[in-house]
Order: sequence, then structure tokens, then C-alpha cells
Amino acid sequence: MARYTGADCRLCRREGSKLFLKGDRCYTDKCALERRNFPPGDAGRKRPKESEYRLQLREKQKTKRIYGLLEKQFRGYYELAVRQKGVTGENLLRILEIRLDNVVYRLGFAKSRAEARQQVRHGHINVNGRRVDIPSFRVKAGDLVAVAAKARDLLVIKTALISNEKTEVPQWLEVDIDKLQGSVLTLPNRDQIDMDIREQLIVELYSK
Ligand code: SF4
Repeated sequence: MARYTGADCRLCRREGSKLFLKGDRCYTDKCALERRNFPPGDAGRKRPKESEYRLQLREKQKTKRIYGLLEKQFRGYYELAVRQKGVTGENLLRILEIRLDNVVYRLGFAKSRAEARQQVRHGHINVNGRRVDIPSFRVKAGDLVAVAAKARDLLVIKTALISNEKTEVPQWLEVDIDKLQGSVLTLPNRDQIDMDIREQLIVELYSK
């Protein structure tokens, strides 16, 4: 699976908002956006022209980057969202949220979605007692997501748990830190997805 391999902070600077791609660092004054809040590149400091298209494009790019996806996969999720019943923008966000890598991150077992993806790929995560090493796997209501027995002592997971101690787990998930596992109580609705994303702009962009 192709993936972005450039500098993460560059993506935040491009979007002009914190995408929280680097775990702890994002909460410190080492955050690149705190120091250089303008787009990367020579033209970065020039004020770009605002247009409806530009707003829509930036919202889509921002969302893609938060979840660490490339265009083809993101577009595929949009098409899936269109085919589902309900509001397309909400469907899209729900599909993104129920990816296994995102759930591992939300449960606090990783400091960033990129780290969560790595854990899933390395076979450190079980769903309903079986190893699942596909980050895009979509969880269902009632699923039990757990750190595999062989991975319980990994430093990266312990560090993530300490670092995420104060972070609230979303209402649609329930975590048991002692057992290093979490349950999917229900699929999330828009109110339960605490993300500063204007999904309607993405729908408008793709439906042109
Ligand atoms: Fe973005 Fe985190 Fe880098 Fe700050 S430290 S620019 S929030 S990835």
C-alpha cells in the first residue's frame, strides 16, 4: 500500500492547523506549527486567494492527512459513503473512524494514527481473539479490540498508555486499560466524532 513518506509537520503547515500526526510532540512548543504557522515553500508567506474550491480542497486534504490516507483510498471511502443510507458526510467520517488503526489510536494504545497503523501491521492487535494485520479493517458494534499477548510488554504501547492517560476515549468505545482491550459499543454518530472537520465541503468537492 502506497503511503506518504514526507515530513508530517509539513502537512500541518500546509493545512494551517494541527493534525496531531506526531504524538507527544504535537502538544509541546516543539510543534512546527507553533513556530512557523505559514505554508511550506517559497510562496508560503504569501496570502493565497480564497475561493470556494480552495476551501473544499483544503478540507479534503486536511481530512485525508489526519487519517493518513492517499487520494485513491479516500475517494473510495467517499464512494462507499454515497452508497450508504443517511448523510454522506457523516457516513464518510464514520467509515474513517471505524478503521482499525484509528480505533487502536482512539483507545490510547498508540500515540498517533501512524503508530497505531504500525502496530496493526506488525500483528500486535487482535479483533475478537484473532490477529488482524490490516489497518483499514473496519470494526463493527460489539467487536473486541485487544493488544495481542506477545505485544503487551512492548515499550511503545506502555509509553502510549502513559501519554494518553488524560485523553478521553470517545463515547462509542470503552477501554479496559488493565486488560489492554477495548470494546466497540456502537458505531459512532457525528456528535460522537470530536473532529474539527467540515465534511460537507468534502462532499461538495467530490460531487461536482
Ligand atoms: Fe502537526 Fe504535530 Fe508536527 Fe505540530 S508537531 S506540526 S501538530 S505533526
